[in-house]
Amino acid sequence: MMTTHLTPSLTLLKGCKLQTPHGMLNREGGNSPPPFASMNLSYGVGDRPDNVAANRQLVKQALGATFLVSAGQVHGDRIFCVEETDQDMEVQGYDALMTNRSGIGLLIQQADCQAVLLHDPDRNAVAAIHCGWRGNVCNIIATVVERMRREYRSDPRSLHALISPSLGPCCAEFKDFTNEFPPELHCFQDRPHYFDLWRLSAVQLTGAGVITEHIEIMGICTACSPEYFSYRRSRRKGLPATGRNGSAILLQRKETLSAEQLSGIHPESGRDERA
Ligand SMILES: [Zn+2]
Repeated sequence: MMTTHLTPSLTLLKGCKLQTPHGMLNREGGNSPPPFASMNLSYGVGDRPDNVAANRQLVKQALGATFLVSAGQVHGDRIFCVEETDQDMEVQGYDALMTNRSGIGLLIQQADCQAVLLHDPDRNAVAAIHCGWRGNVCNIIATVVERMRREYRSDPRSLHALISPSLGPCCAEFKDFTNEFPPELHCFQDRPHYFDLWRLSAVQLTGAGVITEHIEIMGICTACSPEYFSYRRSRRKGLPATGRNGSAILLQRKETLSAEQLSGIHPESGRDERA
């Protein structure tokens, strides 16, 4: 993993396998006061909208995104395909976003849930998935990979995947797991009642056809790491509210791609070996 310091306090964490602009933000370097201090990216937790808007502006600048599209997430498995936009927007009732347009940042908001970021360098498409344990139960990951195949003719073996900082096996306790997880997922317990949701998502990715070597797990537990917002940690402390971390991905604009990358994109260049 790599980190980029945009300001002394604003840090963008990046994976090593995704070859397109992306980043995961912790809670530092933003504009919001406690309990949302300071890089809260959610309009839905009680923070002032102008603070959230200013924080989202920092995300756009950090990634070089023209517009930012986010999902008003509901722990379901609906996917929003971004085709065209001339403004930032948040689409309600979706937990995954995908696009093959450059310059549009796809933002997932989490406080213990995973953001799973996908990039298809062959078909030039990206996706961002909000995946909590309910997302694992309905296997939203497989649904998104299949939709990328339909929409963009993505071969799952070409996809690169990154699992963001999120609830780790150290803290993912499910006291009532027999009612929450179907029996076939009970094997993802590391010890009684504690689930390894990182491993579960990686298995769901490979089950959908993604190659193991193309999957990167950041391996940072948000509940253990005070620099991240954590729903579980704040509930443990009896805090009434907490903010949301952000993870985002976008396709680079063509004019900022290298000549080598461009040759793979424009058949008219005469050097497109994929055509
Ligand atoms: Zn932990």
